[in-house]
Amino acid sequence: MSTEQSLPQSIDTLVVGGGQAGIAMSEHLSRHDIAHLVLEKARIAEGWRSVRWDSLVMNGPAWHDRFPSLEFTADQDSFPGKEDVAAYFERYVKHINAPLHTGVEVKQVTRNPGGSGFVVETSHGTVKAQRVVAATGPFQKPIIPAIAPKDEDLTQIHSAQYKNPQQLPEGAVLVVGAGSSGVQIADELQRAGRTVYLSVGPHDRPPRRYRGRDFVWWLGVLGLWDMAAPGEGREHVTIAVSGAYGGHTVDFRKLAALGIHLLGRTATFNNGVVTFENNLAENIRAGDADYLALLNAADDYIKRNGLDLPEEPEAKQLLPDPPCMTQPTLELNLKQAGIRNIIWATGFALDFSWLKVNAFDNNGKPLHQRGVSTEPGVYFVGLPWLSRRGSSFIWGVWHDAKHIADQIAIQHKYLAYQN
Ligand SMILES: Cc1cc2nc3c(=O)[nH]c(=O)nc-3n(C[C@H](O)[C@H](O)[C@H](O)COP(=O)(O)OP(=O)(O)OC[C@H]3O[C@@H](n4cnc5c(N)ncnc54)[C@H](O)[C@@H]3O)c2cc1C
Repeated sequence: MSTEQSLPQSIDTLVVGGGQAGIAMSEHLSRHDIAHLVLEKARIAEGWRSVRWDSLVMNGPAWHDRFPSLEFTADQDSFPGKEDVAAYFERYVKHINAPLHTGVEVKQVTRNPGGSGFVVETSHGTVKAQRVVAATGPFQKPIIPAIAPKDEDLTQIHSAQYKNPQQLPEGAVLVVGAGSSGVQIADELQRAGRTVYLSVGPHDRPPRRYRGRDFVWWLGVLGLWDMAAPGEGREHVTIAVSGAYGGHTVDFRKLAALGIHLLGRTATFNNGVVTFENNLAENIRAGDADYLALLNAADDYIKRNGLDLPEEPEAKQLLPDPPCMTQPTLELNLKQAGIRNIIWATGFALDFSWLKVNAFDNNGKPLHQRGVSTEPGVYFVGLPWLSRRGSSFIWGVWHDAKHIADQIAIQHKYLAYQN
Protein backbone atom coordinates (compact mmCIF):
# COMPACT_ATOMS: atom_id res chain seq x y z
CA MET A 1 0.00 0.00 0.00
CA SER A 2 1.35 3.47 -0.72
CA THR A 3 0.75 7.02 0.42
CA GLU A 4 -1.82 7.69 -2.31
CA GLN A 5 -4.36 6.22 0.05
CA SER A 6 -4.89 8.87 2.71
CA LEU A 7 -4.43 8.02 6.34
CA PRO A 8 -7.43 7.64 8.65
CA GLN A 9 -7.87 10.29 11.36
CA SER A 10 -7.84 7.73 14.11
CA ILE A 11 -6.87 4.12 14.60
CA ASP A 12 -6.63 1.66 17.45
CA THR A 13 -2.96 0.70 17.07
CA LEU A 14 -0.33 2.49 15.03
CA VAL A 15 2.89 0.67 14.22
CA VAL A 16 5.91 2.80 13.32
CA GLY A 17 8.32 1.10 10.88
CA GLY A 18 7.71 -1.29 7.98
CA GLY A 19 10.63 -3.66 8.42
CA GLN A 20 10.28 -7.23 9.60
CA ALA A 21 9.26 -6.10 13.12
CA GLY A 22 6.40 -3.89 11.88
CA ILE A 23 5.23 -6.56 9.44
CA ALA A 24 5.22 -9.25 12.16
CA MET A 25 3.20 -6.89 14.37
CA SER A 26 0.68 -6.43 11.59
CA GLU A 27 0.23 -10.17 11.16
CA HIS A 28 -0.48 -10.75 14.84
CA LEU A 29 -2.71 -7.68 15.24
CA SER A 30 -4.77 -8.89 12.27
CA ARG A 31 -5.13 -12.30 13.87
CA HIS A 32 -6.72 -10.52 16.86
CA ASP A 33 -8.86 -8.34 14.55
CA ILE A 34 -7.27 -5.21 15.97
CA ALA A 35 -7.60 -2.22 13.65
CA HIS A 36 -4.11 -0.94 12.91
CA LEU A 37 -1.85 0.89 10.52
CA VAL A 38 1.83 0.39 9.76
CA LEU A 39 3.67 3.55 8.68
CA GLU A 40 7.04 3.25 6.93
CA LYS A 41 9.00 6.36 6.05
CA ALA A 42 10.76 4.79 3.06
CA ARG A 43 10.08 1.39 1.44
CA ILE A 44 9.14 -2.00 2.87
CA ALA A 45 12.19 -3.49 4.62
CA GLU A 46 14.23 -0.39 3.77
CA GLY A 47 16.98 -1.42 6.17
CA TRP A 48 17.75 -4.47 4.04
CA ARG A 49 17.90 -2.32 0.91
CA SER A 50 19.85 0.80 1.68
CA VAL A 51 21.87 0.41 4.87
CA ARG A 52 23.63 -2.81 3.92
CA TRP A 53 26.53 -3.48 1.55
CA ASP A 54 25.89 -4.74 -2.00
CA SER A 55 27.11 -8.32 -1.59
CA LEU A 56 25.48 -8.95 1.80
CA VAL A 57 23.70 -12.26 2.15
CA MET A 58 21.81 -13.42 5.22
CA ASN A 59 23.82 -14.70 8.15
CA GLY A 60 21.31 -17.49 8.64
CA PRO A 61 20.01 -19.99 6.05
CA ALA A 62 16.68 -19.47 4.26
CA TRP A 63 14.92 -22.31 6.10
CA HIS A 64 15.60 -20.61 9.45
CA ASP A 65 15.62 -16.84 8.98
CA ARG A 66 12.00 -16.42 7.91
CA PHE A 67 8.44 -16.11 9.22
CA PRO A 68 6.53 -19.38 9.74
CA SER A 69 3.89 -19.12 7.01
CA LEU A 70 6.04 -18.24 3.98
CA GLU A 71 9.25 -19.77 2.64
CA PHE A 72 11.97 -18.06 0.61
CA THR A 73 11.84 -19.16 -3.00
CA ALA A 74 15.60 -19.88 -2.87
CA ASP A 75 17.18 -23.22 -1.90
CA GLN A 76 16.30 -23.61 1.80
CA ASP A 77 19.94 -24.21 2.83
CA SER A 78 21.25 -21.18 0.92
CA PHE A 79 21.86 -17.66 2.24
CA PRO A 80 19.64 -15.25 0.27
CA GLY A 81 20.99 -11.84 -0.71
CA LYS A 82 19.79 -8.61 0.89
CA GLU A 83 17.52 -7.75 -2.06
CA ASP A 84 15.95 -11.22 -1.81
CA VAL A 85 15.23 -10.52 1.84
CA ALA A 86 13.54 -7.20 0.98
CA ALA A 87 11.57 -8.96 -1.79
CA TYR A 88 10.54 -11.66 0.71
CA PHE A 89 9.07 -9.03 3.02
CA GLU A 90 7.31 -7.30 0.13
CA ARG A 91 5.74 -10.64 -0.70
CA TYR A 92 4.89 -11.11 2.96
CA VAL A 93 3.04 -7.79 3.16
CA LYS A 94 0.83 -9.01 0.29
CA HIS A 95 0.55 -12.49 1.81
CA ILE A 96 -0.99 -11.09 5.02
CA ASN A 97 -2.61 -8.08 3.34
CA ALA A 98 -0.95 -5.72 5.82
CA PRO A 99 -2.35 -2.16 6.06
CA LEU A 100 1.11 -0.72 5.45
CA HIS A 101 1.72 2.77 4.05
CA THR A 102 5.14 3.51 2.61
CA GLY A 103 6.66 6.98 2.30
CA VAL A 104 5.05 8.21 5.53
CA GLU A 105 7.38 9.34 8.28
CA VAL A 106 6.25 9.54 11.87
CA LYS A 107 7.64 12.86 13.07
CA GLN A 108 6.38 12.92 16.63
CA VAL A 109 4.23 10.98 19.06
CA THR A 110 2.84 12.70 22.17
CA ARG A 111 0.13 11.83 24.68
CA ASN A 112 -3.27 13.13 23.62
CA PRO A 113 -3.73 16.10 26.00
CA GLY A 114 -7.52 16.15 25.76
CA GLY A 115 -8.27 12.43 25.90
CA SER A 116 -6.95 8.91 25.74
CA GLY A 117 -4.19 7.60 23.53
CA PHE A 118 -1.65 9.48 21.45
CA VAL A 119 -1.36 12.18 18.81
CA VAL A 120 0.83 10.93 15.97
CA GLU A 121 2.20 13.63 13.70
CA THR A 122 3.31 12.28 10.35
CA SER A 123 4.66 13.68 7.10
CA HIS A 124 1.12 13.16 5.75
CA GLY A 125 -1.04 14.55 8.56
CA THR A 126 -2.07 13.74 12.10
CA VAL A 127 -3.50 10.44 13.29
CA LYS A 128 -4.92 9.71 16.74
CA ALA A 129 -3.99 6.28 18.04
CA GLN A 130 -4.91 4.46 21.23
CA ARG A 131 -1.65 2.53 21.12
CA VAL A 132 1.72 2.99 19.45
CA VAL A 133 4.19 0.22 18.66
CA ALA A 134 7.76 1.36 17.94
CA ALA A 135 9.19 -1.00 15.31
CA THR A 136 11.96 1.28 14.07
CA GLY A 137 14.72 -1.29 14.27
CA PRO A 138 17.50 -2.54 16.50
CA PHE A 139 20.16 -0.57 14.61
CA GLN A 140 19.02 3.04 14.24
CA LYS A 141 21.99 5.37 14.53
CA PRO A 142 25.50 4.37 13.39
CA ILE A 143 28.07 4.87 16.15
CA ILE A 144 31.52 6.22 15.27
CA PRO A 145 33.54 6.44 18.51
CA ALA A 146 34.94 9.76 19.69
CA ILE A 147 38.53 8.52 19.07
CA ALA A 148 37.96 8.86 15.27
CA PRO A 149 40.71 11.17 13.97
CA LYS A 150 39.94 14.51 12.34
CA ASP A 151 42.12 13.91 9.31
CA GLU A 152 41.05 15.16 5.90
CA ASP A 153 43.42 12.80 4.11
CA LEU A 154 41.46 9.82 5.42
CA THR A 155 38.14 8.56 4.10
CA GLN A 156 36.11 7.39 7.08
CA ILE A 157 32.73 5.67 6.85
CA HIS A 158 30.53 3.56 9.08
CA SER A 159 29.77 -0.04 8.04
CA ALA A 160 26.19 1.14 7.38
CA GLN A 161 27.59 3.32 4.56
CA TYR A 162 29.87 0.68 3.07
CA LYS A 163 28.69 -0.65 -0.32
CA ASN A 164 31.66 -2.26 -2.14
CA PRO A 165 35.47 -2.05 -2.48
CA GLN A 166 35.29 0.28 -5.53
CA GLN A 167 33.62 2.94 -3.40
CA LEU A 168 36.82 3.51 -1.41
CA PRO A 169 39.78 5.58 -2.62
CA GLU A 170 42.97 3.62 -3.39
CA GLY A 171 45.05 2.51 -0.44
CA ALA A 172 44.95 0.25 2.56
CA VAL A 173 41.89 0.02 4.81
CA LEU A 174 41.64 -0.17 8.57
CA VAL A 175 38.41 -1.92 9.60
CA VAL A 176 37.59 -1.25 13.25
CA GLY A 177 35.35 -3.92 14.77
CA ALA A 178 35.20 -7.63 13.99
CA GLY A 179 31.60 -8.64 14.43
CA SER A 180 29.73 -10.11 11.47
CA SER A 181 29.84 -6.80 9.55
CA GLY A 182 33.51 -5.91 10.16
CA VAL A 183 34.75 -9.43 9.43
CA GLN A 184 32.74 -9.77 6.21
CA ILE A 185 33.75 -6.33 4.95
CA ALA A 186 37.44 -6.99 5.75
CA ASP A 187 37.24 -10.33 3.93
CA GLU A 188 35.63 -8.75 0.87
CA LEU A 189 38.26 -5.97 0.72
CA GLN A 190 41.10 -8.46 1.06
CA ARG A 191 39.67 -10.60 -1.76
CA ALA A 192 39.44 -7.41 -3.87
CA GLY A 193 43.20 -6.98 -3.49
CA ARG A 194 43.28 -4.32 -0.77
CA THR A 195 45.73 -4.32 2.10
CA VAL A 196 43.47 -4.76 5.14
CA TYR A 197 44.03 -4.11 8.83
CA LEU A 198 41.33 -5.50 11.13
CA SER A 199 40.98 -4.38 14.74
CA VAL A 200 39.49 -7.25 16.74
CA GLY A 201 37.69 -6.87 20.07
CA PRO A 202 35.93 -9.49 22.20
CA HIS A 203 33.63 -11.67 20.09
CA ASP A 204 31.80 -14.97 19.89
CA ARG A 205 32.37 -17.03 16.76
CA PRO A 206 30.17 -20.08 16.42
CA PRO A 207 30.99 -22.69 13.77
CA ARG A 208 29.07 -22.19 10.53
CA ARG A 209 28.30 -25.92 10.46
CA TYR A 210 29.25 -28.75 12.77
CA ARG A 211 28.52 -32.44 12.34
CA GLY A 212 26.16 -31.71 9.47
CA ARG A 213 24.07 -28.98 11.10
CA ASP A 214 24.20 -25.18 10.78
CA PHE A 215 24.94 -23.24 13.96
CA VAL A 216 21.41 -21.76 13.91
CA TRP A 217 20.16 -25.33 14.43
CA TRP A 218 22.59 -25.93 17.27
CA LEU A 219 21.63 -22.67 19.00
CA GLY A 220 18.00 -23.74 18.61
CA VAL A 221 18.23 -27.27 20.03
CA LEU A 222 20.59 -26.15 22.81
CA GLY A 223 18.11 -23.43 23.86
CA LEU A 224 20.65 -20.68 23.25
CA TRP A 225 18.46 -18.49 21.00
CA ASP A 226 16.07 -18.43 23.92
CA MET A 227 18.58 -17.06 26.45
CA ALA A 228 16.90 -14.15 28.27
CA ALA A 229 20.00 -12.00 28.86
CA PRO A 230 23.56 -11.95 27.54
CA GLY A 231 25.17 -12.79 30.90
CA GLU A 232 27.46 -10.78 33.16
CA GLY A 233 30.11 -8.82 31.22
CA ARG A 234 28.89 -10.23 27.84
CA GLU A 235 26.50 -7.36 26.96
CA HIS A 236 28.67 -5.94 24.20
CA VAL A 237 30.23 -9.11 22.85
CA THR A 238 29.58 -9.21 19.16
CA ILE A 239 28.95 -12.37 17.17
CA ALA A 240 31.07 -13.07 14.10
CA VAL A 241 29.29 -15.26 11.56
CA SER A 242 29.08 -15.23 7.78
CA GLY A 243 26.84 -16.64 5.08
CA ALA A 244 29.08 -15.16 2.35
CA TYR A 245 30.62 -17.40 -0.34
CA GLY A 246 28.24 -20.24 0.57
CA GLY A 247 28.81 -19.81 4.32
CA HIS A 248 31.96 -20.53 6.33
CA THR A 249 33.16 -20.38 9.92
CA VAL A 250 34.80 -17.10 10.86
CA ASP A 251 38.33 -18.08 11.92
CA PHE A 252 40.70 -15.23 12.73
CA ARG A 253 43.74 -17.51 12.40
CA LYS A 254 42.67 -18.26 8.83
CA LEU A 255 42.09 -14.58 8.08
CA ALA A 256 45.63 -13.87 9.31
CA ALA A 257 46.99 -16.67 7.08
CA LEU A 258 45.17 -15.06 4.13
CA GLY A 259 47.10 -11.85 4.78
CA ILE A 260 44.70 -9.69 6.82
CA HIS A 261 46.69 -7.79 9.46
CA LEU A 262 44.98 -8.42 12.78
CA LEU A 263 45.23 -5.92 15.64
CA GLY A 264 43.82 -5.56 19.15
CA ARG A 265 41.14 -3.04 20.03
CA THR A 266 41.77 0.41 18.60
CA ALA A 267 42.79 2.76 21.42
CA THR A 268 43.93 6.21 20.20
CA PHE A 269 44.79 8.33 17.16
CA ASN A 270 47.50 10.93 17.60
CA ASN A 271 49.41 12.86 14.93
CA GLY A 272 48.84 10.20 12.29
CA VAL A 273 49.66 7.30 14.61
CA VAL A 274 47.04 4.81 15.71
CA THR A 275 47.57 2.65 18.80
CA PHE A 276 45.98 -0.68 19.68
CA GLU A 277 45.38 -2.39 23.01
CA ASN A 278 47.56 -5.41 23.64
CA ASN A 279 44.63 -7.82 23.70
CA LEU A 280 44.47 -9.45 20.26
CA ALA A 281 45.67 -12.88 21.46
CA GLU A 282 43.31 -12.73 24.46
CA ASN A 283 40.34 -11.80 22.25
CA ILE A 284 41.08 -14.53 19.70
CA ARG A 285 41.56 -17.14 22.43
CA ALA A 286 38.28 -16.16 24.12
CA GLY A 287 36.53 -16.45 20.71
CA ASP A 288 38.13 -19.88 20.23
CA ALA A 289 36.95 -20.96 23.68
CA ASP A 290 33.40 -19.90 22.78
CA TYR A 291 33.68 -21.83 19.49
CA LEU A 292 34.99 -25.00 21.19
CA ALA A 293 32.38 -24.78 23.95
CA LEU A 294 29.62 -24.89 21.34
CA LEU A 295 31.22 -27.91 19.64
CA ASN A 296 31.42 -29.70 22.99
CA ALA A 297 27.82 -28.82 23.83
CA ALA A 298 26.80 -30.15 20.40
CA ASP A 299 28.73 -33.42 21.02
CA ASP A 300 26.99 -33.84 24.40
CA TYR A 301 23.61 -33.19 22.80
CA ILE A 302 24.25 -35.80 20.09
CA LYS A 303 25.30 -38.37 22.66
CA ARG A 304 22.43 -37.67 25.05
CA ASN A 305 19.85 -37.90 22.28
CA GLY A 306 21.45 -40.83 20.44
CA LEU A 307 21.63 -38.90 17.15
CA ASP A 308 23.38 -40.34 14.14
CA LEU A 309 25.40 -37.34 12.94
CA PRO A 310 28.86 -37.69 11.36
CA GLU A 311 31.91 -37.19 13.59
CA GLU A 312 34.01 -34.09 12.78
CA PRO A 313 37.15 -34.17 14.98
CA GLU A 314 39.07 -31.87 12.59
CA ALA A 315 36.74 -29.00 13.58
CA LYS A 316 38.49 -28.91 16.96
CA GLN A 317 41.98 -28.52 15.51
CA LEU A 318 42.96 -24.86 15.53
CA LEU A 319 45.70 -23.40 13.34
CA PRO A 320 48.86 -22.31 15.24
CA ASP A 321 48.98 -18.78 16.65
CA PRO A 322 49.91 -16.43 13.78
CA PRO A 323 52.68 -13.80 14.26
CA CYS A 324 50.07 -11.06 14.81
CA MET A 325 49.16 -12.90 18.05
CA THR A 326 52.70 -13.70 19.21
CA GLN A 327 54.28 -10.37 18.20
CA PRO A 328 51.32 -7.99 18.19
CA THR A 329 51.43 -4.64 16.43
CA LEU A 330 50.61 -2.03 19.03
CA GLU A 331 50.92 1.07 16.89
CA LEU A 332 50.85 2.01 13.23
CA ASN A 333 51.83 5.14 11.40
CA LEU A 334 48.84 5.53 9.07
CA LYS A 335 50.84 7.07 6.22
CA GLN A 336 53.67 4.54 6.42
CA ALA A 337 51.12 1.69 6.45
CA GLY A 338 49.41 3.25 3.41
CA ILE A 339 46.07 3.46 5.25
CA ARG A 340 43.78 5.86 3.39
CA ASN A 341 40.45 4.51 4.62
CA ILE A 342 38.85 3.63 7.92
CA ILE A 343 35.63 1.65 8.16
CA TRP A 344 33.99 1.88 11.55
CA ALA A 345 32.13 -1.40 12.08
CA THR A 346 31.40 -0.28 15.60
CA GLY A 347 27.68 -0.81 15.93
CA PHE A 348 24.58 1.29 16.36
CA ALA A 349 22.63 3.21 18.98
CA LEU A 350 18.89 3.69 19.42
CA ASP A 351 17.14 6.95 18.57
CA PHE A 352 13.61 7.44 19.82
CA SER A 353 13.69 11.24 19.68
CA TRP A 354 10.30 11.17 17.87
CA LEU A 355 8.63 9.29 20.73
CA LYS A 356 7.96 11.99 23.31
CA VAL A 357 6.57 9.87 26.12
CA ASN A 358 7.76 8.78 29.52
CA ALA A 359 9.14 5.39 28.50
CA PHE A 360 12.91 5.81 28.76
CA ASP A 361 15.62 5.78 31.40
CA ASN A 362 18.15 8.61 31.78
CA ASN A 363 20.27 7.17 28.98
CA GLY A 364 17.36 7.07 26.55
CA LYS A 365 17.04 3.29 26.87
CA PRO A 366 13.45 2.03 26.55
CA LEU A 367 11.90 0.81 29.81
CA HIS A 368 9.79 -2.25 29.10
CA GLN A 369 9.01 -5.83 29.94
CA ARG A 370 9.09 -8.06 26.84
CA GLY A 371 8.22 -5.00 24.77
CA VAL A 372 5.39 -3.71 26.96
CA SER A 373 6.52 -0.25 28.00
CA THR A 374 6.21 1.39 31.40
CA GLU A 375 4.14 4.04 29.60
CA PRO A 376 0.64 2.52 29.11
CA GLY A 377 -0.18 2.12 25.42
CA VAL A 378 3.43 2.19 24.19
CA TYR A 379 5.17 -0.96 22.95
CA PHE A 380 8.62 -1.77 21.53
CA VAL A 381 9.43 -4.60 19.15
CA GLY A 382 12.61 -5.66 17.37
CA LEU A 383 15.12 -4.40 19.96
CA PRO A 384 18.19 -6.53 20.75
CA TRP A 385 17.45 -8.86 23.68
CA LEU A 386 13.87 -7.57 23.96
CA SER A 387 12.83 -10.92 25.39
CA ARG A 388 15.64 -13.26 24.30
CA ARG A 389 18.74 -13.57 22.16
CA GLY A 390 16.62 -14.11 19.02
CA SER A 391 14.62 -10.88 19.46
CA SER A 392 16.32 -8.75 16.80
CA PHE A 393 16.54 -11.58 14.26
CA ILE A 394 13.96 -12.34 11.59
CA TRP A 395 12.43 -15.45 13.12
CA GLY A 396 12.72 -14.16 16.72
CA VAL A 397 10.91 -10.88 16.17
CA TRP A 398 7.86 -12.80 14.95
CA HIS A 399 7.48 -14.45 18.36
CA ASP A 400 7.97 -11.18 20.27
CA ALA A 401 5.37 -9.48 18.04
CA LYS A 402 2.92 -12.27 18.90
CA HIS A 403 3.39 -11.63 22.62
CA ILE A 404 2.87 -7.89 22.20
CA ALA A 405 -0.27 -8.34 20.08
CA ASP A 406 -1.57 -10.77 22.75
CA GLN A 407 -1.02 -8.07 25.40
CA ILE A 408 -2.90 -5.53 23.30
CA ALA A 409 -5.74 -8.02 22.81
CA ILE A 410 -5.88 -8.57 26.59
CA GLN A 411 -6.30 -4.80 27.10
CA HIS A 412 -9.10 -4.87 24.51
CA LYS A 413 -10.89 -7.58 26.46
CA TYR A 414 -10.79 -5.51 29.67
CA LEU A 415 -12.05 -2.43 27.86
CA ALA A 416 -14.90 -4.41 26.30
CA TYR A 417 -16.18 -5.47 29.72
CA GLN A 418 -19.51 -3.86 30.51
CA ASN A 419 -21.58 -4.47 33.59
C1 LIG B 1 24.48 -6.20 8.32
C2 LIG B 1 23.32 -6.89 8.99
C3 LIG B 1 23.00 -8.20 8.65
C4 LIG B 1 21.94 -8.86 9.27
N1 LIG B 1 21.68 -10.15 8.91
C5 LIG B 1 20.66 -10.81 9.52
C6 LIG B 1 20.33 -12.15 9.14
O1 LIG B 1 20.96 -12.73 8.29
N2 LIG B 1 19.29 -12.76 9.76
C7 LIG B 1 18.55 -12.13 10.72
O2 LIG B 1 17.61 -12.72 11.25
N3 LIG B 1 18.85 -10.86 11.10
C8 LIG B 1 19.87 -10.19 10.52
N4 LIG B 1 20.15 -8.90 10.90
C9 LIG B 1 19.43 -8.32 12.06
C10 LIG B 1 18.02 -7.84 11.76
O3 LIG B 1 17.28 -8.89 11.17
C11 LIG B 1 17.99 -6.62 10.84
O4 LIG B 1 18.67 -5.57 11.45
C12 LIG B 1 16.56 -6.15 10.50
O5 LIG B 1 16.63 -5.16 9.51
C13 LIG B 1 15.78 -5.60 11.70
O6 LIG B 1 14.43 -5.43 11.32
P1 LIG B 1 13.48 -4.36 12.00
O7 LIG B 1 12.18 -4.38 11.30
O8 LIG B 1 13.46 -4.55 13.47
O9 LIG B 1 14.24 -2.98 11.75
P2 LIG B 1 14.57 -2.26 10.33
O10 LIG B 1 14.79 -3.24 9.26
O11 LIG B 1 15.64 -1.28 10.65
O12 LIG B 1 13.21 -1.53 10.04
C14 LIG B 1 12.79 -0.37 10.71
C15 LIG B 1 12.02 0.46 9.71
O13 LIG B 1 11.50 1.61 10.38
C16 LIG B 1 11.52 2.70 9.47
N5 LIG B 1 11.44 3.91 10.29
C17 LIG B 1 12.36 4.38 11.15
N6 LIG B 1 11.95 5.52 11.73
C18 LIG B 1 10.71 5.78 11.22
C19 LIG B 1 9.77 6.82 11.43
N7 LIG B 1 9.99 7.80 12.29
N8 LIG B 1 8.61 6.77 10.72
C20 LIG B 1 8.34 5.75 9.86
N9 LIG B 1 9.23 4.76 9.63
C21 LIG B 1 10.38 4.76 10.30
C22 LIG B 1 12.81 2.51 8.70
O14 LIG B 1 12.79 3.17 7.45
C23 LIG B 1 12.89 0.98 8.56
O15 LIG B 1 12.37 0.51 7.35
C24 LIG B 1 21.18 -8.20 10.28
C25 LIG B 1 21.50 -6.87 10.61
C26 LIG B 1 22.55 -6.23 9.99
C27 LIG B 1 22.88 -4.80 10.37
